[in-house]
Amino acid sequence: MASPTLGVAGFPPSFFETKYRRDRLNGPEWLDEIGLDLLELQMTYGPRTKPETAEKYRERAERFGITLTVHGSYYTVFTSPKQDVIDRSLKRFETTCSLAAKAGASRVVLHPGSAFGDREGALARFIENIDRFIRSALPDGVDVYPETAGKLAQLGSLAEILAICREVERCRPCVDFGHLHARQLSELDTDNGWTFTTVEDYLGAFEWLERHVEPEDRPLVHFHVTPIQYGPKGEISHRRYGERISAEDADGDRFVEGEPWLPEATQLAEAVAKNGYPAWVVCEAGNTQDKGALAMKQAYLAASG
Ligand SMILES: [Zn+2]
Repeated sequence: MASPTLGVAGFPPSFFETKYRRDRLNGPEWLDEIGLDLLELQMTYGPRTKPETAEKYRERAERFGITLTVHGSYYTVFTSPKQDVIDRSLKRFETTCSLAAKAGASRVVLHPGSAFGDREGALARFIENIDRFIRSALPDGVDVYPETAGKLAQLGSLAEILAICREVERCRPCVDFGHLHARQLSELDTDNGWTFTTVEDYLGAFEWLERHVEPEDRPLVHFHVTPIQYGPKGEISHRRYGERISAEDADGDRFVEGEPWLPEATQLAEAVAKNGYPAWVVCEAGNTQDKGALAMKQAYLAASG
């Protein structure tokens, strides 16, 4: 059984406490040293990396055996009804994907964007625009990963993401368990009964994916996990790994003072160990991504040992 590929979203503060801190190109060497496998480069505020830097990332990642992926910009909104927004998004996303190709990253994650109060219309526009982009401008070796969204107002239920991936070639699902947890427990329509508060929920999700995704595509599903605070409209914020709910955030119901924020990355890792799912998992916990990913690794080894 293949071990999962576990990693971090961007650079946590602990990277900047090491001897590697002066240069982010040292990220792969640092991850190799602490025992992780993957770095998701964050281009969330726009693709500002220089092409030469992307090439250097590739070289370092290869040298230290680290997998690179990319998270695209929040300002890429292919659901928009406005043509000027689409045009800017196309340009920005083309730059992002070309940097990903230079960095040797095979996966570019993308938030689909606002549903603009019309989910069907937004879904249709996203599919049309991303399909046009992929046919005309996506470099070889890179696939696009629309991500499940944690907020009510965004396109990105699991069903919507899978619909996109069925329609558009080279689109593959990025399943964010923190976002799904927030969706299911807020007032959104639920895709299923999973809340991702137990190992069984993850096992259910893996079995479900096995029924809905072609066998050769299963290793290509991408996963995110982060403990998350949510309200009636879904996601409010990503919390830190291992952080406990404070008296201020407790509501006497779902959020109990002293309990950990959910979902717990370690439950996901245990499910991966039980199911054998060939998962790539990126921990997006606030400022503690490395701690969450390392906890997943330990939980995986304990459950599979
Ligand atoms: Zn995510």
